[in-house]
Amino acid sequence: MKCTVCGKPAIVKFPAHNSAFCEEHLDAFFLRQVSKTIEKYKMLPPKGRVVVAISGGKDSLVTAYVLKRLGYEVLGFFVDLGITQNDFSPRSREVVENFCKEHDIPLEIVDLKERYGKDIPEVAKRQDRICAICGVTKRHLMNEYALSVNADALATGHTLDDMAKLLLANLMRWDLHHLAKGVPTLPAEPGFAKKIKPLAFQSEDEIIAFAKLHNIKPVEAKCPYGREAKYNRYQEALDMLEEKSPGIKRSFYKNYTKYAYLFEGTQARPPKVNCEVCGFPSVSPVCTFCRTWVVDNEKKK
Ligand SMILES: [Zn+2]
Ligand SMILES: [Zn+2]
Repeated sequence: MKCTVCGKPAIVKFPAHNSAFCEEHLDAFFLRQVSKTIEKYKMLPPKGRVVVAISGGKDSLVTAYVLKRLGYEVLGFFVDLGITQNDFSPRSREVVENFCKEHDIPLEIVDLKERYGKDIPEVAKRQDRICAICGVTKRHLMNEYALSVNADALATGHTLDDMAKLLLANLMRWDLHHLAKGVPTLPAEPGFAKKIKPLAFQSEDEIIAFAKLHNIKPVEAKCPYGREAKYNRYQEALDMLEEKSPGIKRSFYKNYTKYAYLFEGTQARPPKVNCEVCGFPSVSPVCTFCRTWVVDNEKKK
């Protein structure tokens, strides 16, 4: 197996791109791909300021690393959920702190217990939809932070595999609202920072190879609440198709981004109000975030 670019021995092969690369050209390939995505989907201005939500998993670490290499001003953001089972939160926090130190990335940490007097395991005792609540919590906090530092955008580590399986799941249900929102860039709206997914066209194997090349070590501890299981069967279906037709995942998602605008405004949504507590847009007088973390505490006092 030889590098498609220079002919030296290759360390990795990407059938979807009909290419193989040596170390040097794997690095160049990955950076060029992400840089093209950023440009095509108008994610960031040159040297723009970007908040990256870093969980400690490989996808968010690679997102932060690549944006830094491409010359953007990267600000890391981490939420300490207080999950001590499997040593999940402490290990994740340590990985993110060490990574940011090593790559000279300023890091903002929100510790739920410190700020709100309780953490995810405590909320989980009274909530069976804890993964949804956890998602709402992280999104609220990262959005608030991105707005507070005037970032050009808020980046998350969603990958091609994430985007393609969500697309398939949303198509299966003809969920028009989410079909309108599955694009790599969501523009800023009142109360919401611009959201970008710079790895939206990088598949799992590319990210793993790139992380290994740069010695990026993700946290190994798994979240005991196991939220990732939800879309597994869509992932399996796509993996099976990809095996038979390399590149199909990429074209499935890429072609969708051309037509996503067709889904805009296709479904009536409940009118948005501003949350009475935090002031951010909400569908109810007090938003889920404030109901979970803020209002309860006030009642107890
Ligand atoms: Zn090469
Ligand atoms: Zn609120």
